[in-house]
Amino acid sequence: MQKSVKRPSFSPRKCTACWKCVEACPQHAIRKVGFLWHKHAMITYRNCIGCNICVKTCPQGCFKNDNK
Ligand code: SF4
Ligand code: SF4
Repeated sequence: MQKSVKRPSFSPRKCTACWKCVEACPQHAIRKVGFLWHKHAMITYRNCIGCNICVKTCPQGCFKNDNK
């Protein structure tokens, strides 16, 4: 795991499961989680490089990074 990488936090509450972040992440670090009707994205942090593309991509503001 990289030492100084600041990874974004993720809050699935507003996630509409549009999967834009899944397509945008260059590391394929965001996966789709589905449980019956409840679907949302989830970051696999060990693959995340902290590029913040997901922060800029999500129309719902689900990703936050205070260390930009
Ligand atoms: S910060 Fe970059 S690498 Fe990490 S989950 Fe978001 S898009 Fe993927
Ligand atoms: S871009 Fe945002 S709303 Fe769309 S699946 Fe990802 S976290 Fe959910």
